[in-house]
Amino acid sequence: MLNADLHCHSNFSDGTLTPTALAARAKANGVDVWAMTDHDEVGGLAEARAAAAALDLPFVAGVEISITWSGQTVHIVGLQIDETNETLVNGLATTRGGREPRAREIAAQLEKIGIKGAYEGALKFVDNPDLISRTHFARYIIELGLCNNLHDVFANYLGEGKPGFVPHRWASLQNSVEWIRAAGGIAVIAHPGRYKFTDIAFDALFKEFKSFGGVGIEVTTGSHSVDQYDYYAKVAKDYDFLASRGSDFHGPGESRVDLGALPPLPSGVKPVWHNWGW
Ligand code: AMP
Ligand code: MN
Ligand code: MN
Ligand code: MN
Repeated sequence: MLNADLHCHSNFSDGTLTPTALAARAKANGVDVWAMTDHDEVGGLAEARAAAAALDLPFVAGVEISITWSGQTVHIVGLQIDETNETLVNGLATTRGGREPRAREIAAQLEKIGIKGAYEGALKFVDNPDLISRTHFARYIIELGLCNNLHDVFANYLGEGKPGFVPHRWASLQNSVEWIRAAGGIAVIAHPGRYKFTDIAFDALFKEFKSFGGVGIEVTTGSHSVDQYDYYAKVAKDYDFLASRGSDFHGPGESRVDLGALPPLPSGVKPVWHNWGW
């Protein structure tokens, strides 16, 4: 089966590697088709495309859009997008604009529990000033020696209900799918296994997503357990979704799953790349 890795992050969002370094790593790891999907940002795609072309690595332009649905943050991946599309570019710019004030609030809340200078501290880990994320705060908290890894930082400081968590309203589900479709791409629900919805809410999410023109879900992702690969393969079949596969790699030493290192999709699902010609 094709080793497609259709989800990862560069230093244009909260990954630690440049698009060029990611392309080299994907190639070295045996990836056959590679997509880069930075959070709310397409600024790294030109570099990624050029680096992939130089390595003869088939490349897919992608993005991972943060949305708010039923009170929770959900991520929608767009694949095969034209990253110069105005609707997409403007939509992403608007949604990115919320990150700076949110970051100031995160820092203010962390200050209240005695973590000083978190805004400046997080910024040290930011390469794209437009895209400050909780991951950057997490790296600073690790640097301070308060936690050993990202998981513990989210469990203790930055996850929902923790002292540094700031509720935030991202784009809508409808907007995200519309932007992706306007840019000629296909919309895929990222790592569904990470959301804390009831079965009824999941059913509503999948149906609404479909009604807006969404076509796929991630089945095999670095964010799912082995049991969830099978569970979401069944969901893909039941809802007639295409199935996607992506490591969600953010950087060496940080991510559990490396580029290209996931198992193949479970049998019986239709891959998102079924008609891409590779
Ligand atoms: P933000 O978009 O600023 O809310 O940051 C979300 C990012 O934080 C995600 O894309 C992940 O990279 C990271 N993240 C969220 N939860 C965790 C976790 N439990 N462990 C490690 N990283 C996480
Ligand atoms: Mn991330
Ligand atoms: Mn995500
Ligand atoms: Mn991701």
